[in-house]
Amino acid sequence: MVAVAVGLVNALTEGEARGRPYEPPTGEARAAAVADVLTTGDRRAPAVTEAEAGALAEVAGRLRGVFEAVTRGDVDAAALTVNGLLAETDARPHLDRHDGEPWHIHFHGAGGTLAGNYAASCATGLAVVLGSELHDRLGVCTAPHCDRVYVDTSRNGTRRFCSTACQNRVKTAAFRARGA
Ligand SMILES: [Zn+2]
Repeated sequence: MVAVAVGLVNALTEGEARGRPYEPPTGEARAAAVADVLTTGDRRAPAVTEAEAGALAEVAGRLRGVFEAVTRGDVDAAALTVNGLLAETDARPHLDRHDGEPWHIHFHGAGGTLAGNYAASCATGLAVVLGSELHDRLGVCTAPHCDRVYVDTSRNGTRRFCSTACQNRVKTAAFRARGA
């Protein structure tokens, strides 16, 4: 679910991405972008309405705040934001079994809407990370002109970039700066 939170923030919040200004999609394109992100967390591609995509765009803005707070070392602010989302979405665990899979846990919101369920799931995912020794693993890309977010799942926790594209941009710039 943390991967879905990362995907929603990166698809739905404006800023910069890999060296270019980033303007999130709107309308039908936004609904398609949300469906793409949700498919990464759940193989059953959900149908996403434009209204649900709009609701998730609002949630994505607040999820971004969590990554930014952790990046500036303010885990307290990150925890407050996540607690707010958990309370608002009324996130509650629910055991589910479908498509021949074993029982597994989903987090649902009180309203039973797709947007509410995913908001609850993302808030829960970030809560689990913030409540563990991996609480500093949420980050914002450190490459120039990029503010996309990531979760660092590397063993030693040294990730600094949203993507290999940004990692390569920075490497190339450093190489040029050395006059090579
Ligand atoms: Zn980046």
